[in-house]
Formats: sequence, C-alpha cells, structure tokens
Amino acid sequence: MATRRSSDKPPIQSEPALRIITRRLREIMAEASDGQTRLDRIVRQISGLMVAEVCSIYFKRRDGTLELFATEGLNPEAVHQTRLNRGEGLVGRAAESTAPVNEPEAQKHPAFSFRPETGEEAYHSMLAVPILRGGVVLGVIAIQNQTKREYSDEDVEILQTTAMVVAEHLVSGDVARAMVDDEISRSLSTSMNGASMSDGIAMGHVVLHEPRVVVTKLLSEAPEHEPARLDKAVRELRSSIDDMLSHETVSHAGAHREVLEAYRLFANDKGWLRRMHSAVSEGLTAEAAVERVQNGTRSRMLRQNDPFWRERLRDLDDLSDRLLRILAGRKTAVLEDFDLPPDTILVARNMGPAELLDYDSQRLRGLVVEEAGPQSHVAIVARALGIAAVGEVPDIIEQLGGNDEIIVDGELGQVHVRPSAEVVSAYNDKVRFRARRQQQFQALRNQPAVSKDGVGISLMMNAGLMADMSHLADSGAEGIGLFRTELQFMIASTFPRMEQQTATYRQIIEAAGDKPVVFRALDIGGDKALPYLRQPKEDNPALGWRAVRLALDRPALFRLQVRALLRAAAGRELRLMVPMISTTTELAAARKLVESERERAEQKGHERPSAIRLGAMIEVPSILLELDALMEQVDFVSVGSNDLLQFLYACDRSNALVSHRYDTMSVAALRALKMVQEAGDRHNVPVTLCGELAAQPLQAMALIGLGYRSLSIAPASIGPVKRMVLSLDQSRIAEFIGERLDASRTGDIRAELQRFAESDSVEI
Ligand code: PEP
Ligand code: MG
Repeated sequence: MATRRSSDKPPIQSEPALRIITRRLREIMAEASDGQTRLDRIVRQISGLMVAEVCSIYFKRRDGTLELFATEGLNPEAVHQTRLNRGEGLVGRAAESTAPVNEPEAQKHPAFSFRPETGEEAYHSMLAVPILRGGVVLGVIAIQNQTKREYSDEDVEILQTTAMVVAEHLVSGDVARAMVDDEISRSLSTSMNGASMSDGIAMGHVVLHEPRVVVTKLLSEAPEHEPARLDKAVRELRSSIDDMLSHETVSHAGAHREVLEAYRLFANDKGWLRRMHSAVSEGLTAEAAVERVQNGTRSRMLRQNDPFWRERLRDLDDLSDRLLRILAGRKTAVLEDFDLPPDTILVARNMGPAELLDYDSQRLRGLVVEEAGPQSHVAIVARALGIAAVGEVPDIIEQLGGNDEIIVDGELGQVHVRPSAEVVSAYNDKVRFRARRQQQFQALRNQPAVSKDGVGISLMMNAGLMADMSHLADSGAEGIGLFRTELQFMIASTFPRMEQQTATYRQIIEAAGDKPVVFRALDIGGDKALPYLRQPKEDNPALGWRAVRLALDRPALFRLQVRALLRAAAGRELRLMVPMISTTTELAAARKLVESERERAEQKGHERPSAIRLGAMIEVPSILLELDALMEQVDFVSVGSNDLLQFLYACDRSNALVSHRYDTMSVAALRALKMVQEAGDRHNVPVTLCGELAAQPLQAMALIGLGYRSLSIAPASIGPVKRMVLSLDQSRIAEFIGERLDASRTGDIRAELQRFAESDSVEI
C-alpha cells in the first residue's frame, strides 16, 4: 500500500476511506434530490473524507471548456460562472493529459491559472483527476489544501475511484443527468466516416459485440479473497490464449497468430499484474482493479500517435475486457437475445458472418465494424439481413459506452455517435424520405418491367442465405438469378454434410415457390476462405486455386454438392452454374461430373429433377474468345461482371488504389459485354448478367442497349432499375449505344449516357 509522503493532516486509512466514500456516494445516488443537490453533496462528502478544504467538480462542455459545476470550499458564486479554457490551469491540464495532476505548490506552477472569482488564492496544493469514461474525458474532480501538501498515491487512487463512480452514474443517468445531460451529450457527439457495407439508415442504441463488463461493485466484501480471484482469472485468461493459439485456424474475431502472440506476451506481463494487484490490495474488487488499470491504459492509448504502440495498447485494452468477462463468469461474448434492445446497433471490432447470425435479427437494426470492409463476409450477411452497416471505422469502440445512441448511415458510410438533436432531426427527415421512395418502389412490385416500347426485362435477385429469401416477395424479383452457395459454407463451423446441404437447398427451393433459382456451384478459394478447409498459401489468391479449379481438382466436394442439389430439386427443374470457367474443357469436365451424379441417382432409384440446366459464368476474359464453342455446351450463361471486369482490366476489385482505374461504362468493357449477348443470340442461349454492374439504373440502361434482357441484382436495386426500365425506350438506347461503340471510339461513355437519360427523360 502506498504511504503518505507529506501531510500535516492526520493520515486517513485508505481502505476504510474508500469504503466510507463508496457507501456515502451510493447513499447520495439513491436520494431523490435533483442533480445539483447531489453534486453539492458529493463534493462536501469528498472534501470531508479526504480532509481537503476544497473539492470541486468540473464538467466538460461542448466547446471543450471546463465549467465548475459544484464546489465545497471555493466561492459558491463561481459555480456555473467559472469556465476554464481547453488546457487552462492545472484542472485543464488534467483533462488534456487524461492523467492526475498532483501539485504541492499549485500557485507557483507555470500552468496555474488564477481565477479571482473563485477565491482560491488561499490554497497551495492541488490534486486534479480526470473523470473518464471509456478513455473519454467527461470532466475533472479536484481537491485543494491550504498547506503545501503532496498528495499520496492513495489519495490519487481514492479520487480516481470517486471519479469512476461519478462518471458511471453521470452516464447511466443517476447523477445530475437532468441538468448536464444535454451539454454532456452534445460535448460527446461525434461523427465518423467509414465504408458502406450495407445500405440503409439505422437509428438505435449501441450494443457492443464483445461487451465490456460494467463494474458495479467497486469494493470487496471479502478483500482477502480478491488477490486469489484475480490470479485465477489471469490463469484462465492465459490458458484461453494458449488454446486459441493451438487452434490457430479458427480466426475468431480476427485474432490472427500475430495478435494472439502479442496477447500472450501481455497476459504474462508482470507490470500489468502488479498494478492490478496493488489496486486489489487497497480493497477494490478484482473487477474494479482491472478497470482502473484499464482506464489508465486506455487514456495512454488515446494519446498515442505512433500506430504501432497504439495497436499494442489496444491489445492490452482488449485483454482487460477479456479478463473482466472471465471475472464476471461470462463465457461467451454474444449477449443473450433478451438483453438486446429492440433497436440494437451492434458494434464490433471484427466479426465473422456466423457471429452476426447468432443475434436475433428482429432486434438488429444496424452494424458497425471497425476492421471489416464492404467485401467482407459479414457485410454480405448484413446485406442479406437487410440491416444498415458501415465498416472500416477504426477506434470507434474506444469512444463508446454501453447504450449510447447511434445512427448508422449505410448510404454514405457514416456513423454518428450520441448525435445532437439537430443530427437526429435531419436523419428523421432522411428516413421519411427513404420510406416514401421505398413506397413508390413497392407500388411497382407486381408490375412487370417492360420498356415504353414494349420490351420485357427479367429482373431477378442475388441471394446466398435463407435470410435473403424474404426479399423475393418484397422486391418483386422474378426469381433468384444467382444463389451464392458458398455463403452457407462460410458461416458453418464444419463442412456441411450431404444431408445438411440437401435440407438447405430444399428450403431455398421451397421458399422460392414457383420462381426459379439458379444455384451457383461452390465459389471458394481466393478471399472466400472456409475456416475448416486447409488451403495452401498463395501469392495471388484471386488468380489462384479457386472455384471450378478447386472443384475439378477435388471432385469429391463438387460431387457432394451436386448430389445434394439433385436430391433437393427432385421433381423440379435444377439450374446450376459453374463459376470462373476459363476454358470450354473445364465446363466439359464439370458437365461430366454432373452427368455421372445424375446417373448414380438414377441407379439408386432416387427421384430426380425434371430437368437439369447447366450454365457457365462468364468471369474470365479468356472464355470471351471461345464463346461460340461454349454456347454449344451450355443451357445458359451468366456474366459475373465483378470478376470479368477486374480480370479484363487486371485491377483487383477490392483494392482501392486501383479499383477506380477503369470505368465500367468504358468502350472496352461494353464491347466485352456485347460479345457475350451476341454469342448467346447466335446460339439461342439465354444470357443473364449477375454482377453489381446492373444494380445501378444508368448501367442497367446501357446493358439493355447492348441487348441484355435478364439481369440479376441485389433486391434493393430492383425498384430503382424497374423504374428506369418503365421510362426507357429500348430501341433508342440500342441505337445510341450502337453508334457509340462503333470501331473508332475509345474511352468511356458514362457522361454521354447521362446526357441521353436526361434528354430522353429516363429515370436513372
Ligand atoms: C461476379 O463476379 O460478378 C459475381 C457475381 O460473383 P461474385 O461477386 O460472387 O464473385
Ligand atoms: Mg465472381
């Protein structure tokens, strides 16, 4: 225990003092009095118990100033009058540095700021401690004495503990809320930009995916047991990290080997353990000790500019959260459904697709993920669930407390934490506007997409999970033009067996009713990794062992899937397409495998599909030069424009440095797309396009000009594209685009398409 270094006041015993203070604070919190009265009582109690002539509480206002909210010892007239500028005085310094300031000769300190209205010339020594919540400064609590006194470590700790209580009750709505709520919440409003992962606007309350444990019990009833509790929890923490390291293939919450190694190092750090033990020895519960040490770490982290150290401190912060969960006996990071508010906005550092599905989707409104981006698998699931999601928002968790209000703008990729009344009202308008637009699209739901000159366009939707299927009815899609079967595999923790696969596909077919479903054979490899399937490390995974290549080299996986699909589609038509076909021989090999499975089913006497239609995805440019031969082997083709264009231009679709280097409305891209449609027409083979390209009305208009009559897009895009089709004259766009693609043209024609749409009143 720390010793008093210099004081002419009788020493206080830290343990009883802490106990008394906590009890008194609790009593004050329980009172029915108003906020100001409670604050006044807090400062009176603290000054008495810490034998200080002055105790004051300052709260940070929106403009960053610190306003004196309550004082014992300073001139009462100064309350709500005195405001310290950012960094002003020793109180300001404690707020800026997020660390205690302990000065025996405060007035001689160069940073001292004399405020005559407070009448503080009589006081020499000062101890100022920031009131922190999740590393964010809410205010400062300070004590002062007439004598030149250096406050002991115990005094610092007592005041820090008091600050923890004040912060907790302030934000949880117990202390002074009515009075300071508006100012405090405004001062904490913050907006952050990220990347849109799923469209939509969500307004609700924060639920941390791996929630911090709220420490409510600061003092132990049985302090002698706390060191052992702490040690036991630390041992459990260490062994859980060892466990994770030995199951390294399971990348839970993005915990890669490197991160786990860092965790192991920290979990064995003697300094960390010593600091927590020292807090426990003063009578704090093990939980409160972990939190107090964590507060220090977090404030250092927020001040740290060096990204390397910031990351390390973040690991340590994460580790403290894990330790708190162990102490609280919470085995899993996921909250029980009944703990979720009905307007849950989930915030995660990282998250796998299966983890998102663990939550009750009825209560989920939005998602924010610090480390995942639009191409991540959790983003795909968020889109399937129809919840607004934003990714790539680093450090948001440090800014949050439980139950904060938050707005997720999946349209713009923005997040507003503790939004001000102005922001909330602007978003209420935006939500109303979007709802009106949605209503207009809803009205078109059962109307066929036919152009002004009578050309019908089939609009289908892309899907990948059972959760997508409800959109079939609400979007008015004619069917599923692309069912990405790999998503089921990506969210499973082990390879789905035949029975499981059959059941899933059957469910999908049944949910689609009489609408067709085009299943795409497993497109794994590349970035679509299965946690349970060992794959070699490749330098260029996008060009590597994936999709049909893997299927043909490991035919057992492909066969199993085909077998399950044949069973699921018994008595109906089965449409199956094979991804990433680069040569006709690959398609022929795939067809042979499908054929042999069909024969096998026949031999076994299983009921078979009424027809099997096999298609190829056009995603690799080489197949453009073999189109006539391919068309003779297939029942249909589907253009995967996402991949086709990235390979055509040799630009990684998920690399922001290069993904803007070509325009999808370039003459080269449009000519490639035209080749496919023309080959299909020559051979009477149906052609669909199922990449993101067709989701934008302007681009869909160009595709219709090229002759495309079938598009498969995200359900949310069906309304806007249908509205465009209804306002379009197909013969005019065909003529327009035909002229633009004549042999002498180069570059992109997006601007010209835009002008065409304007002059022809096409609703894009
Ligand atoms: C595509 O490449 O356009 C496509 C539809 O497939 P995915 O996006 O799943 O690779
Ligand atoms: Mg693809």
